[in-house]
Amino acid sequence: MISVEQALKRVLSAVAALPAEQVPLARALGRVLAEDVAARVTQPPAAVSAMDGYAVRAADVAKAPAVLKVVGKVQAGAVFKGKVARGQAVRIFTGAPVPQGADSIVIQEDTEAAGGKVTIKEAPKPGRYVRPAGLDFKSGDVGVKSGRRLTARDLGLAAAMNVPWLKVHRRPRVAILSTGDELVMPGSAIGPGQILSSNGISLSAFVVACGGEAIDLGIVPDDRKALAAMAGGARGADMLITSGGASVGEHDLVQEVLGKQGLKVDFWKIAIRPGKPLIFGRIGGTPMLGLPGNPVSSLVCALIFLKPALEKMQGLKPAGDAKPSAVLAKPLPQNDRRQDYLRATLSHRKDGTLLATPFAKQDSSMLATLAHADCLVVRAPNAPAAKSGERVEIVPFPSGPAGI
Ligand code: AMP
Ligand code: MG
Repeated sequence: MISVEQALKRVLSAVAALPAEQVPLARALGRVLAEDVAARVTQPPAAVSAMDGYAVRAADVAKAPAVLKVVGKVQAGAVFKGKVARGQAVRIFTGAPVPQGADSIVIQEDTEAAGGKVTIKEAPKPGRYVRPAGLDFKSGDVGVKSGRRLTARDLGLAAAMNVPWLKVHRRPRVAILSTGDELVMPGSAIGPGQILSSNGISLSAFVVACGGEAIDLGIVPDDRKALAAMAGGARGADMLITSGGASVGEHDLVQEVLGKQGLKVDFWKIAIRPGKPLIFGRIGGTPMLGLPGNPVSSLVCALIFLKPALEKMQGLKPAGDAKPSAVLAKPLPQNDRRQDYLRATLSHRKDGTLLATPFAKQDSSMLATLAHADCLVVRAPNAPAAKSGERVEIVPFPSGPAGI
């Protein structure tokens, strides 16, 4: 058995960032940028008004009230051809270029217009309500850095920088094969001894939530021939994931059968609960993760090992070392030599403290508690008993539309 830390290191060293591809902005949300985005324009391109009002020379109206002659009008999208001379003003609207000669904007609310003249009632400071050229960014400025997962804000910025296409890392293609004689597809009528296969669905969704592309290869029975035939489905994938059949039972055939297909096992068995009998290796150059069949084990191992691997393949910069934590709402017994990941709910105490309440039952077949949990509480190997109120490390489940 190797430690979780060693296992993760070995998984990560077996994968690398995938090559980049070019996508339009409209298809770039959530993708990881492969090349810095530099502005192709200066924004604003010239000084513009931040308000509706009058463009003036501050010196002319230093002593308010002052009366100016209105010599024109300019709105966003137009340009005032002339120049504002002494004693003159130009009616201006938000976003319009500030006319030559003017240096300040007086907001409409501080003026009174009548008969081609305007009375300025409040003296503006020079430069008031003028957005200078390049206030937002200048041509050549880097707006979004390579290695970042693109947000709606980043895409807006790229658009404003006149960059309509982005180079992003290719999505990892992950083939997923569920093994087990007892499995039937969700929606089927189930016979005696059969259960519904949930791992194919949950792991596919997990891969998509992590930014990958899932290729669900379906269910294969615990049969050497069938398994060997299906292994070919991994061809062209960036990673193969199997669920079930990874343990030591007579019907656990993944290692044996894939071994004959060229699987080179890097490690098998990790000091982790749930998920001890995890296999990791390479089959024909493709990394292969053999997850245990229990639904909670497969998803917890996916969270701990697959998610970081998929992130690295997408070119994401590794997350910092900060480890989120919470305070235990109830005591926990001493741990054995496996690193434990306990399903728990999170709540806030009145003073804002984040509280973690582990479920009483942690059997790795119990998918309902996983779905109802907000995080996993991490218990280090051989951790001593923990009292209620003790601070513990947690692994929160990412939330949002692509939550895990
Ligand atoms: P295994 O790892 O093949 O020994 O399976 C361990 C447990 O997980 C058994 O109770 C299986 O029935 C169950 N199991 C295996 N594959 C799946 C699956 N795709 N969906 C739900 N449960 C599964
Ligand atoms: Mg099985």
